[in-house]
Amino acid sequence: MSSTAPRISGQTAGPSLRATVEGLPDYVAGRRATDAKVAALASNESHEVPLPSVERVVRESISRINRYPDMAASALRERLALFLKVSPEEVAVGPGSVGVLQQIMAATCGPGDEVVFAWRSFEAYPILVTLTGATPVPVPLDQDENHDLDGMLAAINDRTRVVIICTPNNPTGTTVGQSQLERFVAAVPSHVLVVIDEAYVEYVGPHGIDSLGIFRTHANVCVLRTFSKAYGLAGLRVGYAAAHKTLAQGLRRVALPFGVSTLAQTAAIASLNATREIQERAAAVIEERSRVIQHLRSVGWHLPDSQANFIWLRADEELKKQLLDAFDRADILVRGYVEDGVRVTLADATTNDRVLEVLGDRATFDKR
Ligand SMILES: *Cc1c(COP(=O)(O)O)cnc(C)c1O
Repeated sequence: MSSTAPRISGQTAGPSLRATVEGLPDYVAGRRATDAKVAALASNESHEVPLPSVERVVRESISRINRYPDMAASALRERLALFLKVSPEEVAVGPGSVGVLQQIMAATCGPGDEVVFAWRSFEAYPILVTLTGATPVPVPLDQDENHDLDGMLAAINDRTRVVIICTPNNPTGTTVGQSQLERFVAAVPSHVLVVIDEAYVEYVGPHGIDSLGIFRTHANVCVLRTFSKAYGLAGLRVGYAAAHKTLAQGLRRVALPFGVSTLAQTAAIASLNATREIQERAAAVIEERSRVIQHLRSVGWHLPDSQANFIWLRADEELKKQLLDAFDRADILVRGYVEDGVRVTLADATTNDRVLEVLGDRATFDKR
């Protein structure tokens, strides 16, 4: 016998990827700020430091990181049930609401199935759908950047398993109204799951929708929310769904075991116990949002009524490039979307003023 390692004949490239994964686009994350003068406005994170009450429980939890977290996240699910006025069996949690959405897709979709969503919307949707082997069915937003609900209804067929409504929509900030949504849900066949993704719900002004009311009255509706945005816990990865029992049970079955850390679970509970402070922080963003949007409109920029913690500048490729260059020169990280435009996260007044300064007057912006 030869002393050299055995060779496997005919194999040179090593294991290959599934064709589905081979063809997937990479998730494009907002760039991260590397130094203090850079304003990180690319990922819709909260610009606020953690609340003291949240920081304290996270520090206390550190002494327990040698232990696995509570896999069922019982205390968090009970606290959420109280908050949402549903039962704990109707709550599922995961590593971010993207994690919960992945559970939803894994529990409901496979090859041959279709998932309908508006486009442009959250870029994780086509990726998570494609991963299951199902087919994404994007329905273009209307000319006012709103969900085209009639178009979405028309896209539903026998293969449709899930429809996602993103309100406020990322990246346009536009919302679906209560009566529109009620009419939509009433028209969706009962075998199709309607996921209402409310990642930015805390930033919606006084005319928000009662998604949980719609959840309670419809067996095929679930509501998806996150601690990553207004609650300021993006770095800890925790999100949740209000889902009816069969689905919630399915989500727990397909979930990555121990996917939500003890740090995340305790921070989420502490945050739910500090909703007044969270609301105050969100109110400050809402106030800044009105100021920024009103100002930009007064100097000729055209932008939709965002109900989230960001603004949306629709732009062709040329304007988009100019916008990205201008923000780059000003050390402001923003998020550009091919063919569609630029999204800028709102922050404190001083940072928002830097944004206004970069944009200046619309009439002279691309003549500089
Ligand atoms: C940010 C965001 C999420 C949540 O992300 P997680 O950090 O995974 O909770 C979900 N949906 C939309 C539309 C978002 O913009």
